[in-house]
Parts: sequence; structure tokens; C-alpha cells
Amino acid sequence: MFETDDPLVREYFRKMIGEEGLRIMENVPEGEITDREIATLNDIKPTSVRKVLYKLYESRIAEYRTERDDDSGWITYWWSFNRDNVKKMMDKEVDDELTGLRTKLEYERSGEFYQCRCRCVLFEEAAEKDFWCEECESHFEYLDNGALIKELEELIEEREGETKVEGLIKGDGERRIEGS
Ligand SMILES: [Zn+2]
Repeated sequence: MFETDDPLVREYFRKMIGEEGLRIMENVPEGEITDREIATLNDIKPTSVRKVLYKLYESRIAEYRTERDDDSGWITYWWSFNRDNVKKMMDKEVDDELTGLRTKLEYERSGEFYQCRCRCVLFEEAAEKDFWCEECESHFEYLDNGALIKELEELIEEREGETKVEGLIKGDGERRIEGS
């Protein structure tokens, strides 16, 4: 049921449901299906299938309805999958990644960086310490981050090309200061 030729989609679901989960979901036909049918289809244990299904359920990609057999009392779970939500989740994933990249780019552009053997600091902090790090006992030396900035710009451009979502920038994102 997944458009598996898209590497972004594959990577995303691999993170969520693992390699086995990915294989299971590739074999799921459209429409409603029971967990036992999926298990038979893939020749694996129903418990493994259910584990995958509940993860997808948590992400609102899978839904189910139950049907109770009046005679046996047996409850059947009919599962179905929401393709729109797959798309939405993907957009969000790219969105989050872009926000992270933009935040990092903004930080890298925010000043001049100096590096000792143990970390990387802004010019102001290096100057304050007379360009000497007492922790690792080495000099703070100027770090040219031009190549990194260029790399980030290219990554952002690439990711922007992968999505057509409007209004990608949301909130402030998480401002993270990288150690080195
Ligand atoms: Zn140091």
C-alpha cells in the first residue's frame, strides 16, 4: 500500500516499523483486511503483524473496526489504511527536517566560530578566554564554516524541491547549539 519507490517514504517507515514491517505493509492490498489475513499473506506470526499495525495505528495511518461473531463471540479486527495520512506524515517529516536545517544554517551564519580540541565556540567566548581552552588545554583556532554553510544551503534547496507544502516555516524550531 505504500509508494515504496520513494526513498523518503521508505526511510520514514523503516524508522517507524522496521524492515520487516516495511515488507509486511508492501504486501497489503487496498481495502479492509484482517490481521490474520496479513499474517497469512506474509507467512509470519499474527503477533508480529499486530505489533506493526499498532505502531501504524498510533500514527493514524492504520485504523480498525471490530466485528463480533454472535455465535462464537470471536472478535475480528478489520484494518484499513489512510493514504492521505501517509502523505501528511511525510510532509511533516520533511517539514521538521527543513526547520532543523534552517535553524542550523541561521546559527552557522550568526557569527565567527573558534574551535579547540573539545568544542566549538563563538568568537566572543574564545576572545574572553584569550583563545585558550582550559578544559582540553589547547588554543581556540578560527574555524572556517563556509563549506558547512554551503552544504546546508544545498541540503535545504534539495529538501525544498522534494515537497510542495506551502508555508513550511512554523514556530521557531529548536535552537540547538552543536558541540563541535
Ligand atoms: Zn577545549
